[in-house]
Amino acid sequence: MHYRMLIGGAQLDAADDRRLPVFNPFTGEEIATIPDADTQDVASAVRAARDAFDNGWGSTPGIERARLLHRLADLIDEAAAEFGRLETDDNGKLLRETTAQAKFAARNYRFFAGYADKLYGRTIPLDQHGMFDYTVRQPVGVAALITAWNSPMQLLANKLAPALAAGCTVVIKPSEHASLSTLRLGDLIAEAGFPAGVVNIVTGGVECGQAIAGHPGLDRISFTGSVPTGQAIMAAANRTLVPVTLELGGKSPNIVFEDADFDRAVTGALNGIFSAGGQTCIAGSRLLVADAIYDRMVAALAERAAQIRLGDPTAAATQMGPVANRPRLERITGVIEKARSDGARMVAGGEVVPRSDLQNGLFVAPTVFADVDSDSALAQEEIFGPVLSVIRFTSEGEAVRVANGTEFGLASAVWTKDLARAHRVAEALVAGTVWVNTYRVSAAQAPFGGVGKSGHGRERGEEALDEYLRTKNVMIDLNPAIPDLFEIAQPREDR
Ligand code: NAD
Repeated sequence: MHYRMLIGGAQLDAADDRRLPVFNPFTGEEIATIPDADTQDVASAVRAARDAFDNGWGSTPGIERARLLHRLADLIDEAAAEFGRLETDDNGKLLRETTAQAKFAARNYRFFAGYADKLYGRTIPLDQHGMFDYTVRQPVGVAALITAWNSPMQLLANKLAPALAAGCTVVIKPSEHASLSTLRLGDLIAEAGFPAGVVNIVTGGVECGQAIAGHPGLDRISFTGSVPTGQAIMAAANRTLVPVTLELGGKSPNIVFEDADFDRAVTGALNGIFSAGGQTCIAGSRLLVADAIYDRMVAALAERAAQIRLGDPTAAATQMGPVANRPRLERITGVIEKARSDGARMVAGGEVVPRSDLQNGLFVAPTVFADVDSDSALAQEEIFGPVLSVIRFTSEGEAVRVANGTEFGLASAVWTKDLARAHRVAEALVAGTVWVNTYRVSAAQAPFGGVGKSGHGRERGEEALDEYLRTKNVMIDLNPAIPDLFEIAQPREDR
């Protein structure tokens, strides 16, 4: 299948006709090609977005933006099965999860549609007499939205829904490893009735990303991806002074206290790390376990991890699909081999699974390392694969110290029946999200984002709108008297 980009309402190939192949990570087959955009294509897309913003989208009434967003949400819901299939064929994620993520994306468009006509400012009483002050919230302008391959529809909805609700126009760049659902979304955006140029989609790899990151004609860049790419984007934006939102990686701690519901915590730990084969930014890749239940927990994890059913990501019975591409496979197996040669205690998994029923899929067995040193690379570096590090702790203070002891701060979880402890630890954890007795639950209403090397800015929730709006302050002098030359209006009590 020959996919095209969306620029200024037209479906286009890259200007010099370069294309990239798309492989299904389960079958290994080439299933499509996508345009490989360069600087020239990016410049066209930014120009189209600027024209659309200046020609009316920026001042379109909120109720009209809301109507279009609701229409888009309906179309996505109707096509959820198709989007699920496209993503699963593209990145190997389980079909039931990619389909659910398409529906969750639709939910996000509806959530932000509700804000589009409620972006109120404030009136502000001032110290000075006779001055009337108010704020207005206005769209920043043209936003570039760059996403990762692991959850394309959902990651894009986190950005596109608030951007459109706020009145921005956009240039989207999905990952070269999973662009198909985003390109298909372009058709639905046109069908929903968004004016040409409001949403532009370019595809390609690093060159395309760099052209966006360095473009001076943007008003916001919102990026989801790895730390090194986030750093490169900030360095590029350092020259243009375009503000940047960063949603980066994590090494999220999942803390199990001795009073936790044991079976619930085991399931939560397995869900936290092995859902989507660990290829999620919020993966609970460090499991901190209280001394009193440590041995029992390690034994239960080893037993249950070995039972996880690997297979065709489109089959209902499959619990874990392949990793998304060969560079990922090499990175994950490299980390496992290094940890083993350093003497780490592996209690489950560890191997690439070459079973004949798994076709040409890139499968790594769910892998568990026990007794992991909290300062080791295994406990400090994001792996983005099905590898769990289990760490023992003996006190609440130690658990919090170890949990906070990485450069990241994206997600975290606490498993306990002690309400006071749950609140205490939630307060002390340095992370954008804390779950208590659950893991991996996302909601349109709940803000999401990181601290430290997990990034900055927030997506989802009301907070996400702040990334795409700027506040203007308007001050009006209602005093009838003409002030003296060079007089500065003083606070009332000083008059
Ligand atoms: P990546 O950084 O390799 O790529 C992300 C995007 O950036 C892609 O579209 C890519 O083409 C583009 N890109 C690459 N180099 C660029 C450059 N120099 N300038 C501009 N753009 C460039 O990340 P990935 O492998 O696609 O995704 C995995 C990473 O994403 C993991 O670290 C994961 O934790 C993170 N992630 C974070 C979140 C979150 O919400 N915090 C969600 C999903 C994934």
